[in-house]
Amino acid sequence: MDETEEESKMDRLEQFLAFTEQAPTAFHATACFRNLLMEKGFRELKETDPWLPEAGGKYFVVRNDAALIAFEVPETGFAPFRIAAAHGDSPTFRLKERFEDRGKVYVRLNVEKYGGMIMSSWLDRPLSVAGRLAVREGKHVGIRLVCLDRDAVLIPNLPIHVNREVNNGYKYDPQTDLMPLYGTAENPGCLMDEIAQAAGVKKEDILSHDLFLYNRERPAVWGQENAFFSCARIDDLECAWAAVTALTESAAKNAINVCAVFDHEEVGSASRQGADSSFLSDTLTRAGRALGASDCEIRAAVAGSFMVSADNAHALHPNHPEFFDAQNQVFMNQGVVIKHHAGQKYTTDAVSSARFTLLCEQAGVPVQHFANRSDQPGGSTLGNIANTHVSMETVDIGLAQLAMHSVYETAGTKDLDFLIRALSALYSLSD
Ligand code: ZN
Repeated sequence: MDETEEESKMDRLEQFLAFTEQAPTAFHATACFRNLLMEKGFRELKETDPWLPEAGGKYFVVRNDAALIAFEVPETGFAPFRIAAAHGDSPTFRLKERFEDRGKVYVRLNVEKYGGMIMSSWLDRPLSVAGRLAVREGKHVGIRLVCLDRDAVLIPNLPIHVNREVNNGYKYDPQTDLMPLYGTAENPGCLMDEIAQAAGVKKEDILSHDLFLYNRERPAVWGQENAFFSCARIDDLECAWAAVTALTESAAKNAINVCAVFDHEEVGSASRQGADSSFLSDTLTRAGRALGASDCEIRAAVAGSFMVSADNAHALHPNHPEFFDAQNQVFMNQGVVIKHHAGQKYTTDAVSSARFTLLCEQAGVPVQHFANRSDQPGGSTLGNIANTHVSMETVDIGLAQLAMHSVYETAGTKDLDFLIRALSALYSLSD
């Protein structure tokens, strides 16, 4: 590989890392993707309006500010779909509707878990608050995204002198151990004042909110020859960003290219904008009907479509190889991971694995194969859930990373480029 190719890979990684800092919540990730797609000539369709997409057109649709599906129609018009799907949410803590806990000494925030995080990783580091506000606009409800963008709260550990068990498998109770500290009681100010100011609205006009904690630690590229990078929310912003990037850099040929970034994967996907919703089937059906396809033609096209469900995978841990299957371990910087599971938590089968392997071969991208140890249940993802609504040949893939669901995750610097190339090959297939 020559130097310019190496430099452009690092530029892409830098762009991705800058994006992660702009995307503290699924709302912000969706807003970033909306801007990126509009810059690249995609037009927004509203779910509440009739759609009139045209052959050769590029479109996207947002559901509930937190999930997005973009698609590009080839010049030849209606055709089967090539879909890459990822998720834009990550484990965090959600502020309860009434979140201020004003005690005699301290002001804390009352939060609840969103998804399954490594709790200890959230302690003793500055955190901030971001999300969506629903505000009064006359008789209507207006939406504002908000991000405090400053070190605002922290969840302190107990000192080891009073919690001697902290290094012996300590069990954190989210209702007591994980309440973030915001201020002291003698200070009359409250967090909602800050949030209102940051959003440019009056506090009394905030009718409700979807607010979350996030980690403000800057991304870092590190290690021998910069082999690794670390930042917040690698799972699954890395796959989501790769999918959107590949879509915008490819031209649809004989297929409708689709990129879906769902919400609520970390809490089971069963929601209005999760993979277990009508969002994907609605979008494919509406696009097909507007392009003149009959119901029968749309079903035929779906049956002949292909989906890549992209969500990160567990790289072999340097200190704990015993937690990983002997023959099906995967490594950072060694290519895209195809995930297999007999119980169908991953949709991959021989045919979809083989088809994706061929795609990667054409793109010059190495593949590796992951399976859990047989005595471990492992995680689940969105491919099999999306398939209960829109059933088609699907492969589950991802990039190998460490410390999944830590507040600060780690991955390999070479892999983002591998995934963009693999998904570009998916979107550029000519048959
Ligand atoms: Zn994920």
